[in-house]
Amino acid sequence: MNPRALLTYCQSELPAMLDCLQQVVEMESPTNSKAEVDRLGNFLARELKRSHAKVQILKHARAGAAVVAELFGKSGRGVKPILLLGHLDTVWDLGTLSRMPFKIRGDRAYGPGILDMKSGIVCGLWALGALQALKISPAGPVRFFLNSDEEASSLAFRKQLMAEAKKAKAVLVLEPAAVAGALKTERKGTGEFRITVCGRSAHAGINPAAGVNAISELTRQLLRVEKLARPHKGLTLSVGTISGGTRTNVIPERASATIDVRIPHVEDREMIERRVCSLKPINPEALLEIQGGINRPPMERARAVHLFRRARELGWEMGMELAEASTGGGSDGNFTAALGIPTLDGLGGVGDGAHALDEHIIVRELPRRAALLAALIATL
Ligand SMILES: [Zn+2]
Repeated sequence: MNPRALLTYCQSELPAMLDCLQQVVEMESPTNSKAEVDRLGNFLARELKRSHAKVQILKHARAGAAVVAELFGKSGRGVKPILLLGHLDTVWDLGTLSRMPFKIRGDRAYGPGILDMKSGIVCGLWALGALQALKISPAGPVRFFLNSDEEASSLAFRKQLMAEAKKAKAVLVLEPAAVAGALKTERKGTGEFRITVCGRSAHAGINPAAGVNAISELTRQLLRVEKLARPHKGLTLSVGTISGGTRTNVIPERASATIDVRIPHVEDREMIERRVCSLKPINPEALLEIQGGINRPPMERARAVHLFRRARELGWEMGMELAEASTGGGSDGNFTAALGIPTLDGLGGVGDGAHALDEHIIVRELPRRAALLAALIATL
């Protein structure tokens, strides 16, 4: 396998890659729009079938369908597949295209979801295409799993995703690269809690002592919660939303808040969940209801580092200088790494502005990422 030949092939394919990327970006696919996510899934299923992949569409009553494709032979009998992981959905509502249309300006291409992660999907397609075109057979089959609700915690197909990962020898995640194309070897675990306080309403002027102020109880609890953070160790908690009360002159009966939690290590989970869930009312007449917990375990570096080293060496052979990066954001790689399966993330597009109005990719990186992915698949 000659990485340079893969690079040359992918670079010659850039116009076709951009054409496909435009089609994919112009099929808007917000997580909660089942019909649109299904449409994009069907389009990609057709593309994969044209490459002679065996394709399965996993339907879901409420969420969009996920797509699973297999190429390069059958898994089973001791041959473990490589799992490519992508997601069809974006955080952009339907109609966003009219204010941020697909466009290419200089070396950048813009559009909703172009970085997170439609360019990653295109890299996946072309990596597989490059291997076929150059008649390079990986050691085992490659399975390509396109999830449909990653941006909403991957609830619909979590079980199938975990089952796919358990069978795999390695998971390559097509989420966007970190700054300057760095690969992601470490992700924090993510969680969310909701604290609801039930107090007792009363007239704030006539009978304040009869009331139990839910807002003052909640704010005192939130100060306690914030003290659990260990920012120097990467463990952070942030109150993201708060609501409560009805009128200024009414002692509020209810108040609630949601808290975002990021944990660097698996062991932090138990401590955070225990300490948040065991909060006790400061005013004994108030009731506390606490829901939530850690929903994505951390992706620890140990699961990624040997894959990263391999990728870096292949990068050198193709004239790329690849760094590794750690991020506070979660992905489906968190789940696969937590199963103990080697997982390397950030193999998708290079750019900036994920989930932001200036979301874009660097066009010249597109074939380079596809070639890197192809080379990695070929050598695993
Ligand atoms: Zn993503």
